[in-house]
Amino acid sequence: MSVQGLVKFDNPILKKVLKPVKNFEDVENIISNMYDTMYENDGIGLAANQIGIDLNIIIVDLSHIDSNFHPKTYINGKILEKTGSKIMEEGCLSLPKIKLEVNRAEKIYFYYEDKNGNPFKEDLNGLLSTVIQHEMDHVNGRLIIDYASKIQKQQFLKTLQKLHE
Ligand SMILES: [Zn+2]
Repeated sequence: MSVQGLVKFDNPILKKVLKPVKNFEDVENIISNMYDTMYENDGIGLAANQIGIDLNIIIVDLSHIDSNFHPKTYINGKILEKTGSKIMEEGCLSLPKIKLEVNRAEKIYFYYEDKNGNPFKEDLNGLLSTVIQHEMDHVNGRLIIDYASKIQKQQFLKTLQKLHE
């Protein structure tokens, strides 16, 4: 179990549709590394490709906002339905210093599997719905800067490039 380096914003794995998990025996270590890395970077959510892993795994921990929330791992997630809309300012561990208002669904109907491969379907709303939509974008190779206008996106990319110089 260890903190992993976050992949750089221009790493092609962030633009990839991630593969489904088929062998659940291998995921325990990956998930543990994902939590270590998320906590080290003060994140509330993380997708596997952010540490360079090509698998449909996301984690979320909102317990510092909602003390009843327990950290949760979602494998092979798929958003089945979206309803409503809301705009929230978001950041991303893969895009340091970037903040962007993103228009997302208010509620989602979400399919996922747990770390033993058991399937679940849940109606989700509030911040959890937003975070899962953000992380599922990662699973589908999409970043928050993809919601920006062309000009805004170019500025963001310049900012990120400078950070890595
Ligand atoms: Zn992100």
